[in-house]
Amino acid sequence: MKTLIRNAVVVTMNEQNDLIDNGSVVIDGNRLSYVGPAEWTPPGPFDRMIDASRMIAMPGMVNAHCHSPANLVRGMMPSKPLEIWRAYYRASLRDMREEDFYASALLGGVEMLKAGATTVLDHFAGNQACRFMGAGAAIQAMRDLGLRHVVSLTITDKNYEETIPLGETHSTLDDEIKRMSASEAKSTTAWLDECEAFIETFHAPEKLTTACPGPSAVQRCTDELLTGAAEIARKKNLPMHIHLAETKAQAVMGKQLYATSLLQHLGSIGVLRPNLSLAHSIWIEPTDIELFAKSGATPVHNPASNLRIGSGLAPVKQFISAGVTVALGTDGAASNDGQNMFDALRLVALIHNQAGTDFNEWIVPAQALAMATRNGARAFGLDAGVLAPGKLADLVLLRRDTPAFTPLNDVMGQLVFCENGSSVDTVIVNGEVVVESGRLTKVDEPEVLRLAEQARTRLDPSIQRELQAARTLEPALAEMYFRVFGKRQ
Ligand SMILES: [Zn+2]
Repeated sequence: MKTLIRNAVVVTMNEQNDLIDNGSVVIDGNRLSYVGPAEWTPPGPFDRMIDASRMIAMPGMVNAHCHSPANLVRGMMPSKPLEIWRAYYRASLRDMREEDFYASALLGGVEMLKAGATTVLDHFAGNQACRFMGAGAAIQAMRDLGLRHVVSLTITDKNYEETIPLGETHSTLDDEIKRMSASEAKSTTAWLDECEAFIETFHAPEKLTTACPGPSAVQRCTDELLTGAAEIARKKNLPMHIHLAETKAQAVMGKQLYATSLLQHLGSIGVLRPNLSLAHSIWIEPTDIELFAKSGATPVHNPASNLRIGSGLAPVKQFISAGVTVALGTDGAASNDGQNMFDALRLVALIHNQAGTDFNEWIVPAQALAMATRNGARAFGLDAGVLAPGKLADLVLLRRDTPAFTPLNDVMGQLVFCENGSSVDTVIVNGEVVVESGRLTKVDEPEVLRLAEQARTRLDPSIQRELQAARTLEPALAEMYFRVFGKRQ
């Protein structure tokens, strides 16, 4: 199958961020075979021609961090610090079954594709009552949609109460928190075996699936689990994903456990490699920035989630100045509350412009777009995120007869500051058209919404019961939060 897209404004997102005012893109199978000026378009024949004379072509975006089970509880979680928020969010997972994970991943996938994301990293944590916690159902949903996906299975072999700095409040919390985390911890070898079996079962790039290890967070795993997971990824040439220093409480816990920063600890046990991507990376030390740069690992910035639950701001400008490649994500819909990468683009280009800082370092549209495209692809070892010959054919066509692009002053500036996803017309993943004229081609959207409604309704009694239980934890977790920040409640 050979496709010609002609007369588009092409935003290549190559290293030079080249723009082509009137360009053509040729897709041969699942790869791009030509990206360049329209007047040099290679001769056909073509099986399909797309007239893009009123369109902008850009690489499909890479949503570099989310949790697909969270899509059913968008908009309903309290804006409270992560440790408290997490107790509430866990309530929604308690009774989820395969069909719920499927519906939730479908819902998020629909939102992502329609807003121009062609790849997602799903840091999957579900319910131990299901095989691989239900990750197989999420993978099926993303295959059904035609969305490329990297699914990192979340593993943790420490009890949750040992991984947050509860101090003296520990005993008052014990029972409830143990009950909530009982469903998560497993022995180190059991998790490593499960992780290998998961990869064996699902890793299939030709079906758009990269399956890989996803240790929950540094302080939530033993060193044996971290190094074992890294070894699995190394042997199989896979990426690995982890949460790093999302909150101050986590950084405090890291110091207690390791007497160094969480990142330095990863470095000291040999896990910090170019294939590692680290969600958040907020509460790090100045020397960690250099360590990131040397390692080639990728911090993943999730601006909406970080603002929603007040986690803090990652030092994105310092990362960029030091040559660190930063990727961009939405995080789960329980802390975002959607999966729209245009939101992330706009936020990352706004929130780091703080009064009194060096405005020469403020994030410009090309940097934001690089985070959302080629940097994410690089983090996961995918040959995508750039429109260039030889790359995977993952791309988006946006209409430019919309308010966001009228008049067309500065295409990159308008993609970042003006667009919200509603101009997306056509989305192509792996050479296949999965969104056409703004509509999904492979699944029926009203049916997806119906499945999501149905799942949420069925889960409601369990969610209400578990939310009530989570409320009992809040006072002690709040006490910890204020103590960590040296404040009295
Ligand atoms: Zn996360």
